[in-house]
Amino acid sequence: MTAFADNLTTVGGGEEPACLVVMYHYVGTRHGRDASGVRGISPSHFEDQLDDLSRWGEPISWSALLEVLSGGRSLPRRGFLLTFDDGLRDHIEIVAPILGERRMTGVFSASGRTLTGGGMCAAHQVHLLLNALPDATLLDAVRTQVQKAGLGIDLATGEQAELERYAYEDPARARLKHLLHHQIPIFERDRILGDLFRAHVGDPQTWTQRWYLSGRDARELDAAGHTIGGHGFSHEPLTRLSGDDADTDVRRCAAVLTDLLGPAQRPFSYPFGAHDDRIADVLRRCGFAAGFTTRSALLTRPIHRWRLPRVDTIHVAAFTERSAVC
Ligand SMILES: [Zn+2]
Repeated sequence: MTAFADNLTTVGGGEEPACLVVMYHYVGTRHGRDASGVRGISPSHFEDQLDDLSRWGEPISWSALLEVLSGGRSLPRRGFLLTFDDGLRDHIEIVAPILGERRMTGVFSASGRTLTGGGMCAAHQVHLLLNALPDATLLDAVRTQVQKAGLGIDLATGEQAELERYAYEDPARARLKHLLHHQIPIFERDRILGDLFRAHVGDPQTWTQRWYLSGRDARELDAAGHTIGGHGFSHEPLTRLSGDDADTDVRRCAAVLTDLLGPAQRPFSYPFGAHDDRIADVLRRCGFAAGFTTRSALLTRPIHRWRLPRVDTIHVAAFTERSAVC
């Protein structure tokens, strides 16, 4: 049994209130069917999933969940909340019109850097590089740069962590992502990725504008009733940063959102799902109201506001189909 299925039994005949918080990233077709690095749900599949979810339960908004967290209302018997990470242009071009037609709202969590046009996140540079190069070629190129820079990284370590964190990836890709996001020092990683990106994909600034929501887009989504959540400033795994650096990163993210949209009780989506008590405390101090993780489970009582579980779009059917027949 996979880890995400562990919680299926918590929803029986619908007596136990539960919320399915769905996590999306890319939603679109422009990346192409053969785009192996940029994986996402197609618009038609997304609409089918909204149909399935609507048969299963009722859509709820962030403000409704916030009331639940505050004790002002109870968890719906079967509610679902739609969340979209990474502040991608897909979200305003494709997702928002679909949700608008259905009178649904979503939580769109964006990094401060991309909202202010400050450059591409490493994770998305990797996706686009994986479209351009075979996995093994890219892994070799990164390893060569690591050795050339004399970073002293043992390229054979991290096997277990790779397997657990990137269990959905094949071994070469899992090793590559672990190396880039968790092993190479961030400054060096950005230099290596920047060089490879310019050589094999294109100008990072042009891609930044093409790939992400702008501040104006965020305002437009906010005005349409959606919620803009935090997703860090630099989109690094926050548990990797020192206390001061994590604090600075989350504070900068909060400042960007407040500048753009005004103060509000916003949720935060942990980049890479990386969180612990220290990071939860940083979020609280920076004014966020809750933290969405990537732990795959239904949201049931008791609710821990800094550890809200979410179900990736690829696992949603396992939850809705199973609980529909119980
Ligand atoms: Zn992210």
